[in-house]
Amino acid sequence: MARASKNPEKAGEGGDVVPLRPPTKCPICGKPAVREFYPFSSQRCADIDLNRWFTGAYAIPVVENEPPEEAPNAEQDDGEV
Ligand SMILES: [Zn+2]
Repeated sequence: MARASKNPEKAGEGGDVVPLRPPTKCPICGKPAVREFYPFSSQRCADIDLNRWFTGAYAIPVVENEPPEEAPNAEQDDGEV
């Protein structure tokens, strides 16, 4: 009753181990995300995503030419005429 301990078809070289969760891909570069920077692959990708938020979604589309009332120093810009 010898039990075949080595089956060529089952001798998975790393492919036989199924993780509990499928690896999450980094939305920035597509590399597998790491736990420390989840859901990103690195701090750099996390910064890039954060920067996208600031420059994209959080950007105010309405741009007025008039300076805000809280800028008393606005006149200094015209001193170079
Ligand atoms: Zn990444």
